[in-house]
Amino acid sequence: MDLGIAGKTALVCASSKGLGRGCAEALAEAGCNLVMNARGAEALEETAAAIRATYGVEVTTVVADIVSEDGRAQVLEVARGADILVTNAGGPPPGHWSDWDRTDFLKALDGNMLTPIALMQALLPGMMERGWGRVVNITSRSVKAPILQLGLSNSARAGLTGFVAGTSRQVAEKGVTINNLLPGVHETDRIVQMDRHESEKTGRPIPEISAERAAGIPTREYGQAADFGRMCAYLCSVHARFIVGQNIVLDGGETLATI
Ligand code: NAP
Repeated sequence: MDLGIAGKTALVCASSKGLGRGCAEALAEAGCNLVMNARGAEALEETAAAIRATYGVEVTTVVADIVSEDGRAQVLEVARGADILVTNAGGPPPGHWSDWDRTDFLKALDGNMLTPIALMQALLPGMMERGWGRVVNITSRSVKAPILQLGLSNSARAGLTGFVAGTSRQVAEKGVTINNLLPGVHETDRIVQMDRHESEKTGRPIPEISAERAAGIPTREYGQAADFGRMCAYLCSVHARFIVGQNIVLDGGETLATI
């Protein structure tokens, strides 16, 4: 299928690895030029070079912390006229509900709520003026059903979801759609780290923990970033103009919910 977005410019935040990289690759495959970002230069430059070589699109890299005001300013300087915005950043650490203080919550809110909101506030006006735009926020299945050890994520992402629910309905008449993608367990560094955390906590070997986690997913396997990225590219396509303010769960059916 031709997604109809060749030649558009996409800002994909936090995209040197994992789900962000999956989205960047799929958008590049659709012919988008990219602005990619991460804090670590080495992985970012490697990924950018691989994407240029494979898809022949223009890729500009910005090494910056997207959660900091300075970092965001550096990214926006380069991506000011972007047609497509994919927001992403690292997720908050796991723990127990009684562990976290105000500073922990503010950090989680900064990373997983206020940063995507700031990016949307910066780029939506230009998209609306040009009469076309797409925003996809990478959130989590924890928005649909809480993940008990991820209270910081449950809280911060719920706030972002509320913002998107209202804002998406206010910008759609200008040809701009905003939607959220809610990943379940995908095979990325983040999940390896979660499995390691569980292993340290329980003393059980990592492969046993991963196998048990996979067994709890109806597909009996972890998701892949490349598949996740293709759904993102579809939401950014010309064909997705009627999909507005939705929360699309990609979790192999793990979340037990009827709708
Ligand atoms: P990942 O494999 O650890 O990759 C994270 C990427 O984001 C890396 O490229 C990292 O590069 C970059 N990054 C992290 N913090 C950043 C920051 N402050 N500024 C700029 N770049 C940053 O993680 P992932 O699994 O793709 O997860 C992406 C998001 O989806 C996270 O918020 C995670 O909580 C959420 N999620 C993931 C899963 C899953 O199963 N994987 C499930 C639910 C939700 P640098 O470290 O070099 O900056």
